[in-house]
Amino acid sequence: MTDTSRRTFLAGAALTAGAAVTFAADTTASAQSSSGGAAAPTAPNAANYPKPPYPTDMQPWPGLASQMNPRPDHGETSYKGSGKLTGKKALITGGDSGIGRAAAIAYAREGADVAINYLPAEEPDAKEVIALIEAEGRKAVAIPGDLRSEEFCRSLISQAADQLGGLDILVNNAALQQTRPSIADISSELFDDTMKTNVYAPFWLTKAALERMGTGAVIVNTSSEQAGNPSPEIVHYAMTRAAVLNFTKGLAKELAPRGIRVNAVAPGPFWTPLQVSGGATEEKLRTFGADSPMGRAGQPAEIAGLYVAAADPMLSYSTGQIFGSTGGNGQPA
Ligand code: NAD
Ligand code: MG
Repeated sequence: MTDTSRRTFLAGAALTAGAAVTFAADTTASAQSSSGGAAAPTAPNAANYPKPPYPTDMQPWPGLASQMNPRPDHGETSYKGSGKLTGKKALITGGDSGIGRAAAIAYAREGADVAINYLPAEEPDAKEVIALIEAEGRKAVAIPGDLRSEEFCRSLISQAADQLGGLDILVNNAALQQTRPSIADISSELFDDTMKTNVYAPFWLTKAALERMGTGAVIVNTSSEQAGNPSPEIVHYAMTRAAVLNFTKGLAKELAPRGIRVNAVAPGPFWTPLQVSGGATEEKLRTFGADSPMGRAGQPAEIAGLYVAAADPMLSYSTGQIFGSTGGNGQPA
């Protein structure tokens, strides 16, 4: 271990220890139940969330939340539902980790049955999420597979709708983000993979889902503050978040007469596997979120409520909306 990496490791250990209370991602049923019981969820304590400098423990893509230092807070011990999505059937892509996992936990605690999609390599993370959904007494469906294939996207929608007994909410959340110093370093293969995962897959999934959806259904997309304020080293990724934002607004107009809503959530910097598995450089990761007015990265638990709001039937006049969570850096567009 070099001096620098030892210092980073020790800083990480201190951060983890300091954040032990809010970052205990206990996945046992007794600690999770939102329906009362001995161990009721505690309120999130944002004041205790880690701040930069962050440890820079990189992982190979696609990364695991369970291997991150510090572990992200997805709301495992804090999200408290109030029946907002009772009886709904939801599919969440990238539901194994990060923002998608936080949405999956929140949806289950709001009364929804939830299917998650993820890559086969992410099975350990997915297992934790399935256990968390089941701990709420909700149906949990795990459907691994690669979204870069149109055939798989179509089959994912069929499997999810068949196993859940319908489909009311599709959350297009999975994405590929791999940093490159210059456009000269972005190969056609990486560009293609980024477009397939981040633009084609939401298009294919939405198209297939609409064949199974009725009045009251909702598509929830994931954009980014990158849509309106792109960083230079991820231009290929940032343009996909702009595309999704535009897709959200356009499709909302088409589907309003059918009673189907389309909204998007636009995160700022969030502490997730995407960032530690090639989405950010080591240098950027160390100071991740430091340039936001909050001075830190967001934790997935802090954005879950916006995914609930985007799908909430009570917000029936909200379609084509972009729900932001950027730590004070404003709206993406
Ligand atoms: P994450 O790594 O936890 O989630 C991304 C997920 O995408 C992975 O878990 C993986 O299951 C899935 N995925 C990637 N390629 C796939 C493929 N080919 N087939 C199937 N699944 C695939 O990271 P996250 O940050 O929670 O990302 C969720 C969303 O949030 C993404 O749309 C991302 O663009 C957006 N976002 C993240 C940030 C941030 O700072 N973390 C900021 C703005 C927007
Ligand atoms: Mg993952």
